[in-house]
Amino acid sequence: MKKEINIIFFGAPGAGKGTQAKKISQELSLPHIDTGSLIREAIGNKTELGVKTQQFVESGKLVPDELVIDLIKEKLKVLKDKDFKGFILDGFPRTIPQADALKNMLRELMLELTCVLNIQAPEDILVKRLSSRKLCSNKNCGAIFNLITKKPKEENKCDICNSPLYQRKDDTEEAAKERLSEYHLKTAPLEKYYREQNKLVDINGTKESEDVYNEIIKTLP
Ligand code: AMP
Repeated sequence: MKKEINIIFFGAPGAGKGTQAKKISQELSLPHIDTGSLIREAIGNKTELGVKTQQFVESGKLVPDELVIDLIKEKLKVLKDKDFKGFILDGFPRTIPQADALKNMLRELMLELTCVLNIQAPEDILVKRLSSRKLCSNKNCGAIFNLITKKPKEENKCDICNSPLYQRKDDTEEAAKERLSEYHLKTAPLEKYYREQNKLVDINGTKESEDVYNEIIKTLP
């Protein structure tokens, strides 16, 4: 029987985690669990989680660990049915306590982490990418554009579904800088954490999206 594939997409905001995780999840038909999108959806729907997290997200801060840990626990429990083929985690874990909680969840569910893809890009590229990013407002599409490197054919319209594009509130230069500072302080230590467990695979995230994708595919079992 084929073993499942359980991947974490790791990297700074703007490194390209979301774009690549989406493509790989489609290619491998694996569920894409993207904490940022789940939280933004909760904010949009004004749920209890949304109300508790909105201020953190919009100012570029990480939301408290217990809120995201509970969210992921719920998602993984629901996923782990008899057709389980694996998962793609995008944006989780982002702190050491989150990584420890994930370790316990996987142990309880008798799952093993396949690898942590560490998508790397220098700071100047990250800030530029974040502040020029535009997203499709249709949540079933969610295409990601970039006004410098991947312009939509028609201004402010999605190439795929024609829905209007928007800029995330935390993609302004100020919030993006705060997100990068949170990353260095709280998330970057996970690099060492997963390297020591021999799970980390470094990926050069500065290349064209298609080349990054091909590099990822080559590293997967
Ligand atoms: P992202 O879409 O991955 O850039 O995430 C957007 C925002 O959602 C982050 O800046 C945080 O405010 C929040 N968020 C997403 N994932 C996490 C996480 N694992 N831990 C804490 N906050 C998170």
